[in-house]
Amino acid sequence: MQKIIQQLSHQLARINEVEDITRLKLEMQEELSRLAMEVDIIDFKLQRALKDKNIVNSLLTKTSEDLKRALQKQESQAEMLNILLDTIPALVYFKDSALRYQIVNKAFIEFSGLVRTDVIGKTLTEVFHHYLPEGKYQMLEKQVIQDGSFFYNVEELVEQNEKKIWVHTNIAPVRNDEGEIIGLIGISWDISSQKNYEQQLRDARDMAEEGVRIKGQFLTNMSHEIRTPLNGIIGMAEILRQTALQKKQEDYLDNLLNSARHLMGLIEDVFEFSAIESGKYKPETGKFSLSRLLDQVEKEFENMADKKGIKIQLKTDPKLPDFFIGDKNSLRIVLRNLLNNAVKFTHEGNVVLDVKPEKPLKNGSLSLRFEVKDTGIGVKDIHLNKIFESFSQVDISTTKNYQGTGLGLAISKRLVEVMKGKIGMHSTEGKGSVFWFVIPLKAEMPEEETFDESKIIEMLKEFRILMIEDNLINQKINKVIFEKNGCKLDIANNGKEGLGKYIDNPYDLILMDVQMPVMDGLEATRKIRQFEEKQGKRHAFIVALTANALESDRRKTREAGMDGFIAKPFNPKDLLIILHNLIINK
Ligand code: ADP
Repeated sequence: MQKIIQQLSHQLARINEVEDITRLKLEMQEELSRLAMEVDIIDFKLQRALKDKNIVNSLLTKTSEDLKRALQKQESQAEMLNILLDTIPALVYFKDSALRYQIVNKAFIEFSGLVRTDVIGKTLTEVFHHYLPEGKYQMLEKQVIQDGSFFYNVEELVEQNEKKIWVHTNIAPVRNDEGEIIGLIGISWDISSQKNYEQQLRDARDMAEEGVRIKGQFLTNMSHEIRTPLNGIIGMAEILRQTALQKKQEDYLDNLLNSARHLMGLIEDVFEFSAIESGKYKPETGKFSLSRLLDQVEKEFENMADKKGIKIQLKTDPKLPDFFIGDKNSLRIVLRNLLNNAVKFTHEGNVVLDVKPEKPLKNGSLSLRFEVKDTGIGVKDIHLNKIFESFSQVDISTTKNYQGTGLGLAISKRLVEVMKGKIGMHSTEGKGSVFWFVIPLKAEMPEEETFDESKIIEMLKEFRILMIEDNLINQKINKVIFEKNGCKLDIANNGKEGLGKYIDNPYDLILMDVQMPVMDGLEATRKIRQFEEKQGKRHAFIVALTANALESDRRKTREAGMDGFIAKPFNPKDLLIILHNLIINK
């Protein structure tokens, strides 16, 4: 433009000197139209520039608004994060790689009792003076920074404001976008009340365990105290039963015996149940003949069934081996309970005890299924679920019409579980029930067992036998049993007296009660064994006769040095078998 104006003024200057005005005029017109074109272009550019400026302006306005909004958002997010951090009731902190606090929340500040500026940039020991520079916690923090480890559930007892506080901490590394560790984040909280609660729970548990122990001890003592005189009553009544009696006297005596046996059953139920509940019952694994066990159990209920006019049938699969290794005692108790119920709750028809293999198991074990089927009163559907619970009797009238404690099935269920088996039942009211259980048992090759009753009795006749027993009635019963077989029996009233007698007379066999005043059977046995060793005397057979029939009681008698064990009340034949195995089959 400048250039065009210069040209125009140059041409105007020339007007004065040049005569050919027409040419000049033409030139000037050309120049003017060019000028007009340039002005148009400039105008167009200007318009465009103005438009661009407006766009840029509106863009700028928008960007600045966005920026403002973004900033506001960021601020509110940071604020929310702060609110969140400050609302967390735990101590949250971020430390840099030099383990200096960079961010801490409100709970942290309150816990430390300091102001934020006294915490930021400081190390743990500078903030909490009771921490030692190389303490456990600092070592963990160093490890987090060094190798990126995480630590969960670090528990420490710290002292803060003269109060002991349990603190629970989790620490984790913090990494930047490149994956480098730039610090750690920690979160700690006060778990003192939880710890106190745990302690209270532990105390309560200890107290409860002590209670259970005392209860167990009490029940053991009580059952011993009750069983001993009851054994006396049963034993004496049995001896009396063998004398000449009138029919009426026999009836009275049978009633007396039945009641006494029933009472013994109840005491044993309660005793067994409490032993199982307190974890004292230990299964006792040994070899046994299944057919003999089934016969024995069946015989126990024959009388009861006869009186009610019902039959007990025993069915066993002929393919079954006879000898097994397992817990004979538990099996006997379960079978007794089921048979007892079956006979008790059946008024006509029969009771069948059916035993068959369910399936072979690995390593020579068999899974045996025992079923006790009856044609009795059955159980209503609504009672089926709780029938195996302790003290559960189908209805109160059951208790009145049929004697029982409601413990039999609960004991059976627990014992079957102890034997690693399963128990169940199905029933139709008014038609009968089937109670079954399945247990694994290891089959065993039969062993030549020779029990020659007359041989052992002949040997015992030659033996000097001492019975150490404090209970007068038991003394009498055993004396009668032995003397009936032509054997002589000396008696001592407690362990001390027995020891004295043994020192003076070389007895061959000692029948030793366990619980006795002055000196108990365990101590007396230990002293007898020491005496034998010192004097180089022959080992006398010592058999424990005790009302405490648990495996733990057996173990104690073995440890004291006894050779055999029989639980009272015992059948004279069982004692003879034990003595036979001990003396002849040794
Ligand atoms: P109880 O000592 O009362 O027999 P159990 O635990 O052995 O205790 O049995 C609980 C209850 O289950 C019994 O009281 C009875 O109501 C019911 N029951 C058990 N066995 C049978 C059965 N064979 N037929 C009918 N009812 C039974």
